[in-house]
Amino acid sequence: MNLNPASTASPVSRLIQELSKLPGIGPKSAQRLTYYLLRAPDEQAKVLAEAILSLRQKTQLCSSCFNIADSDLCSICRSDERDQSIVCIVEQPQDILALEHVGTYRGLYHVLHGAISPTEGVGADNIRIKELLVRLKTSQVAEAILATNPTLEGETTAMYLSKLISPLGIRVTRLARGLPFGTELEYADDVTLARALEGRQEF
Ligand SMILES: [Zn+2]
Repeated sequence: MNLNPASTASPVSRLIQELSKLPGIGPKSAQRLTYYLLRAPDEQAKVLAEAILSLRQKTQLCSSCFNIADSDLCSICRSDERDQSIVCIVEQPQDILALEHVGTYRGLYHVLHGAISPTEGVGADNIRIKELLVRLKTSQVAEAILATNPTLEGETTAMYLSKLISPLGIRVTRLARGLPFGTELEYADDVTLARALEGRQEF
């Protein structure tokens, strides 16, 4: 007999429980969504369930920049319209979405999947820094833009990366100080992001 509480709970309370684990969804919203789905047409619930499954089954990390991809390389790395000589280094794939939304940047990206945080036990080896260095050493990159968040962790990471990248003879720049300290890139508005990109300075 399976005594796992999640599997013995009723389907209704099980879905409420699972939905409330999602960011931004409290118990009240989880309840509302569950009862909505209970009354929704069969087809709608089925499409939603399939979308969640294929999100995990049909996506992978780009083998070059570690962005979310639907094949070995992401659409940005595959494009021949992107400037191969600039790499913008971000913490999360969502940051690429925010920067792409601005629409002015034409270079490539590298996703670290985190930032160095001694307090949370995240060291340089826990994020994609090793892969970044290999990539920079074996490509024709002339400029690396440090676009980590203007937070304590983001600044620490930028400082660390700058020390590793500068000796490679690559220009290292940092987003301009238009972004208030503590903000995360993915929540910054387009105008602020565009200014931060355009006004980037030597680091
Ligand atoms: Zn890529």
